[in-house]
Amino acid sequence: DDQPDQSLHSMLKQVFGFGDFRPGQEEVVRDLIAGNSVLAVMPTGAGKSLCYQMAALMRPGITIVVSPLLALMADQVASLEANGVAAASINSTLTRDEKISVWNRLTAGELKLLYLSPEQLMNGRLLPALAKQQVSMFVVDEAHCVSQWGHDFRPEYRQLDALRNLFPDVPIGAFTATADAPTRTEIMDHLLHGDGRLLVQGFDRPNIRIDVAQKDNAKAQLLAFIREFEGRQGIVYCLSRASVERTAEYLNRNGYQALPYHAGMPADVRLANQEQFLARPDVIMVATIAFGMGIDKPDVRFVIHMDLPSSMEAYYQEMGRAGRDGAPARALMLYGFDNIRARREMIAGSPASEEKKRLDVQRLNALLSFCEAPSCRRTVLLRYFGDDHGAPCRNCDACINPPELYDGTHEAGLVLNA
Ligand code: ADP
Ligand code: MG
Repeated sequence: DDQPDQSLHSMLKQVFGFGDFRPGQEEVVRDLIAGNSVLAVMPTGAGKSLCYQMAALMRPGITIVVSPLLALMADQVASLEANGVAAASINSTLTRDEKISVWNRLTAGELKLLYLSPEQLMNGRLLPALAKQQVSMFVVDEAHCVSQWGHDFRPEYRQLDALRNLFPDVPIGAFTATADAPTRTEIMDHLLHGDGRLLVQGFDRPNIRIDVAQKDNAKAQLLAFIREFEGRQGIVYCLSRASVERTAEYLNRNGYQALPYHAGMPADVRLANQEQFLARPDVIMVATIAFGMGIDKPDVRFVIHMDLPSSMEAYYQEMGRAGRDGAPARALMLYGFDNIRARREMIAGSPASEEKKRLDVQRLNALLSFCEAPSCRRTVLLRYFGDDHGAPCRNCDACINPPELYDGTHEAGLVLNA
């Protein structure tokens, strides 16, 4: 039914404080409320959490949310509690007393949403305890982690394939921002056992201006680009930890407030840096891809890739952290021939199956055709995600400075044969 639903809109306003749904949200909420399993592919910043949080509130019983990151769960639980919703998470940072308290609320049927990692859900005593509860829905956030073809496969997510059989009557909502066709198929087949609706929301982020350039003097290119962002915040992605450290130092020497973030740093320093980034309006985070999943900062003004990202999906997800408030933002990617060669060697030398390698080569080629695109980059990007767009965007370097000005065929040949 397509009638505007008064109760949904008043809940949106009263519980979450929003006047309207964002594109795609209402359809997903309604499907979940109706008890259907759903795979929702919606861009970063589209508001996926709200979809399952609302559905959880509208259905009787408890909703179990599987999420890959502690920080993500903590964030969501805190904001749900601030909105008066009974939510909790079970995770490794809880004290014994805290665990007991969550457990008691769970068995007393007091919780509406419970967040946990796939390991926490599938191991130990939890599943039998849930079998005695009214479970209204399972939610698998960042569901591309299920897929071996995906760019962020997590073996623990594979165990979730058993949910469908263990709880045949409980709907499953799978959410991701980044799933190409093989990844979607895999999530559908494994997690939903072929029984679910696929909902794909448009991928365009028209407020983000896209620039892609070959690296020649990366540091100079970086400085020239961020000059217009003095006192604003952004994320600079580097491939290696060493280049994260070097680049952060370099920006600091040049008068910017830059902080490093990578998995080789002590956890407390990393967390402190992340908190500064979240709390302050003017910090540049220089990071490896360890940074960012689930980071929800609306006014990030730019995202820079100092190296070729690992895939179109990764690129889209990472650059999509800019401009979530809808105001103008920019994404710059610098790519070098060394990156491309390294990536090819990595694929060739990996222990993955031939099928997986073939897909990885295809994905790399798609990324390179995006880098070398002679016309609108947004069109190339959106087409990749099956979201055809039509007219040139006028908000990317290829639209603004059409590349007829130089002869790119030589370089293009180099890339394709590298
Ligand atoms: P995603 O998981 O899809 O990347 P999130 O669920 O983290 O996105 O939501 C991104 C931001 O959008 C959050 O700050 C959230 O509060 C906000 N948001 C979600 N739905 C709406 C809405 N209908 N109106 C305004 N803001 C919204
Ligand atoms: Mg999310």
